[in-house]
Amino acid sequence: MTDSASNVDLSVVMPVFNEEDNLGPLVNELEGVLKTTGRSFEVICVNDCSTDNSLAVIQELQKTRPYLRVVNHRVNSGESAAGATGFENARGEIVITIDADQQNDPADIPALLDALKDDVDAVCGVRRKREDDWVRRLSSRVANGFRNWMTGDRIADAGCTYRALRRSALHEVPVFNGMHRFLPTLLRLQGYKAVEILVNHRPRTRGTSKYGVGNRMWRGIVDCFAMRWFRARSVRGDRARP
Ligand code: UDP
Ligand code: MG
Repeated sequence: MTDSASNVDLSVVMPVFNEEDNLGPLVNELEGVLKTTGRSFEVICVNDCSTDNSLAVIQELQKTRPYLRVVNHRVNSGESAAGATGFENARGEIVITIDADQQNDPADIPALLDALKDDVDAVCGVRRKREDDWVRRLSSRVANGFRNWMTGDRIADAGCTYRALRRSALHEVPVFNGMHRFLPTLLRLQGYKAVEILVNHRPRTRGTSKYGVGNRMWRGIVDCFAMRWFRARSVRGDRARP
């Protein structure tokens, strides 16, 4: 663990919008697992303009945790934008994105890192047993099917943003609301290799979900058309070779 810029191996990026009760337990759990990896790390909370005490909680945690950083959004900008801000600020070669609501299990981090072989640029979590209500499980199944049909890709669980990514692959990812669901496809279109592994999923016990079926569906459909266009026009992100 270090707070000097040059030798951070892992950057954990956590979008935070009103997660005051989740942050303490999650940061402690993360710290325990990250220490076992033997790699230096930082944890970046991207505070997406929370209106609860999330920022104060993070600042309190920072007093005894030099690896914990916070970047504040001036306006609430959504999970994709929070992720993108995290990518910009990350110093590690490897970026792990995790939700701040404790639904992703930090114990999966070693498996995500193991799967990030030399020729792999992104390891994407697929929730083994989804701990959400049936409406969300069903809508997510329909959405994944439609998305794959539209994009021509095969991504089992696009809504799972628990991932390990090579920072070098993230330079040209377009930022738009909803991008987080297309990140594996966007990376593949740019010539990078994305693989999937099963991860745990836990029920949300504190705070509330920021999304419902209504605010995801229509945008998600429009995004699929945008992705078809992008597929036709994309250029390889890794085109320049030394
Ligand atoms: N989030 C955010 N900005 C928003 C909405 C959500 O940063 O405008 C964060 C949120 O705090 C959480 C992650 O994005 O860490 C995923 O949100 P949520 O758990 O509500 O989504 P779900 O898991 O229900 O899809
Ligand atoms: Mg969640």
